[in-house]
Amino acid sequence: MTESFSRRNLMGLPLAELSEYFAGLGEPPFRARQVYHWICRRLAGSFQEMSDLPQRLRQRLEEEAFLADPEIVERRQAADGTVKYALRMLDGTVVEAVVMPMDGHHTLCLSAQAGCAVGCRFCVTGALGAGRNLRAFEIFGQFRQLMRDQKLLGQRVNVVFMGMGEPLFNFDQVVASLALLGETVSLRRITVSTAGVVPKLDALGQLPRRPNLAVSLNATTDEQRARLMPGVARWPLPALLEALRRYPLERGRRITIEYVLIAEINDSLMDAKRLVRLLTPLRVKVNLIPLNPDPVYLPGLAPPSEERISAFAGVLAAAGVNVSVRRSKGLEVAAACGQLRGQLAGRARNGGLAFLPRL
Ligand code: SAH
Ligand code: SF4
Repeated sequence: MTESFSRRNLMGLPLAELSEYFAGLGEPPFRARQVYHWICRRLAGSFQEMSDLPQRLRQRLEEEAFLADPEIVERRQAADGTVKYALRMLDGTVVEAVVMPMDGHHTLCLSAQAGCAVGCRFCVTGALGAGRNLRAFEIFGQFRQLMRDQKLLGQRVNVVFMGMGEPLFNFDQVVASLALLGETVSLRRITVSTAGVVPKLDALGQLPRRPNLAVSLNATTDEQRARLMPGVARWPLPALLEALRRYPLERGRRITIEYVLIAEINDSLMDAKRLVRLLTPLRVKVNLIPLNPDPVYLPGLAPPSEERISAFAGVLAAAGVNVSVRRSKGLEVAAACGQLRGQLAGRARNGGLAFLPRL
């Protein structure tokens, strides 16, 4: 481990930087392209796997460089096939990522930060507080590890930035990670989810190649939103909705609006009607997410009853809003945002006692 720091990490380097590195070694430029291809497309885990490199070069790379993949420190599978991972970065930072089998493809959920400064009241990551930004290679490293662990290379996958953290608070590194992910996954299959960081939404909209956009609204008045999502209250609803209206969408595409339903907090029919009014001018589809409870980090918060969820969805559907209810995947492995990480933090505080599932 100490030795790795004197060697150069090649994982996640853009091709231009990799080319400089190989020029420095006195190697021809096509070597950089070969290695980039092995790292980003074939997801090679070691230089030895790079079978079209001469043995002497593989040897030299092993001595002078390394691939900084995060380490899988926990892997839990739920009955529905969802697998939740805890991944440790080189400096010891632990984040989570999830693989969800869907109809005909897998969805990989990645973290953009280790913690979150938005501090949403219904989110375990928010309860953990602000953490550091992840570097592009650390985001891409989650993808590489999940793809390899689940043997998904060559299969259809979607990628969503719905793990820990607020992607648009880590804009540059998230954008750099999109270039790396884009080597094997079409940007049309990648979704960035944000709590509504308005200036960065505009910046995202100006990228020549854009991922899909999901926005976590979760409230229908500014007062309610400031209470639930304090870290984004400085961008009130009118500014956020205006930013969504000017966000450039390709033909046939919609913005996903996420709305976590919390009993007695934001699940009334009044809320549903206000939501219809707010969204009517926009090209959106609404994803209602019944709260994933956590007695330790989210005491006192519960999902609404099935009847209330249906009634809420019914108001939207009757008004012609495209709406679906997202059923929690892998509830028993703590699949909601930040929950596994929260449990690991709890365990660390308890002196590393054996893990006891809480759900
Ligand atoms: N920070 C970004 C992306 C990560 S959160 C964002 O907020 O959009 C991904 C999604 O998980 C968000 O839509 C958020 O509202 C939702 N979420 C967070 N905690 C949840 C919980 N306890 N139950 C259900 N959904 C939750
Ligand atoms: Fe951060 Fe998203 Fe959780 Fe809010 S829901 S605290 S923005 S990760």
